Amino acid sequence: MGVRNGTDSRIHQQIMSTHKEPTEQAPDEDESPIETARYQLERAAEHLDLSEGLLEQLRHPSKTVEVSVPIRRTDGSVEVFNGYRVQHFEVRGPYKGGMRYHPSVSAEECTALAMLMTWKCAVMDLPFGGAKGGIVVDPSELNTQETEQLTRRFAEELREVVGPTKDIPAPDMGTDEQTVAWFMDAYSMQEGETVPGIVTGKPTAVGGTHGREEAPGRSVAIVAREALDYYGRSIAGATVAVQGFGAVGANAARLLDAWGGSVVAVSDVDGGIYDESGLDVASIPTDSDEHGQLEDVDAPRQLSNAELLELDVDILIPAAVGNVLTRDNAADVQASIIVEGANGPTTTAADTVFEERDIPVIPDILANAGGVTASYFEWLQHINRRSWSREEVNDELETEMLDAWDALRAEVEDRGVTWRTAAYIVALSRIGDAMNARGLWP
Ligand code: GLU
Repeated sequence: MGVRNGTDSRIHQQIMSTHKEPTEQAPDEDESPIETARYQLERAAEHLDLSEGLLEQLRHPSKTVEVSVPIRRTDGSVEVFNGYRVQHFEVRGPYKGGMRYHPSVSAEECTALAMLMTWKCAVMDLPFGGAKGGIVVDPSELNTQETEQLTRRFAEELREVVGPTKDIPAPDMGTDEQTVAWFMDAYSMQEGETVPGIVTGKPTAVGGTHGREEAPGRSVAIVAREALDYYGRSIAGATVAVQGFGAVGANAARLLDAWGGSVVAVSDVDGGIYDESGLDVASIPTDSDEHGQLEDVDAPRQLSNAELLELDVDILIPAAVGNVLTRDNAADVQASIIVEGANGPTTTAADTVFEERDIPVIPDILANAGGVTASYFEWLQHINRRSWSREEVNDELETEMLDAWDALRAEVEDRGVTWRTAAYIVALSRIGDAMNARGLWP
């Protein structure tokens, strides 16, 4: 296991060397997530009186763990995969964040996403710091048995750095409740006791919470509803386009539809469907990463993912992958409000264009924070040995989202900043207060 601490790491070097001014004309769909994360941090910090020392700490992860994860494939061969766990900042509580199985996973990507988790937890006022991890693998190339082996070995490799009061993984891209159940089992076997609190997002049969899977989509829908209201529009009949019809996009679309919105377009990785009078989203199966999921759905028009992003709708929800709203298409976006379902769908250049064009962007660290908030509820249920009903989870989530929304709204109104900067201001103030209270060790 390779553990690199803080400022002398290669990651630090990468962060330092990849930081560029956002005005440089690089192809911004390739914008590195760490570049975006650092830019947003600096921008919000200008509004606050944070010490340079704290900012320097926040620019870098506390710990980056890199592991090799060997498995025996079904054909008898041994294959070795790279895995990572990056822990960003824990002043407010144990590290928390998902683990993803995806070919794009890297130490740098995990660092940026761990930073986002620190802000996300602070925006929601959850007692956690940010982490993210994953394995560089295309999960569709492994069978179930191989995925299980990979997960069990990964859990073993990370055993020293994770723990229910240390760092609590959860599902993310390419992983699900089964993945974290295997992770929990492997960890528990080695610890000699059942430790349900080691992960969240588990199946309810082993201590998972009701409502966790739909929670990120639910939070997206809640803030979309609040944003419509804030800008004087009614949800009744409001038009919505959703890019990505996985767990986040599909649940957001279905809720907005149930609340009276009109979801006119949805897409998966192969493209989308459009009906100006509103799609029956409840009957469209959720994209399970299989191609052609939407092809058989009866709709008046097919459209590409690029066309979906430029539809004239009240709410646009990019809920698929990062960096889809870029310098190239930002000027053509016609939506009135953008609500970020995915992590990091808007590049820095696109963000600037939207600000100039007065298109509000409700940021990922608020909009999709329902996932980690429900994870927090799961963690509490484990500590209290008492499970909550789905209704309790949804009610609590609604309360937490509205509290966070109000905190951001106050900053937007008081300082005249964007919703993203407001979210960072809320997060950084809370982190700054915690740091001031605790001080620096030793
Ligand atoms: N992976 C999710 C996220 O990006 C949730 C993390 C968690 O529940 O810990 O917010």
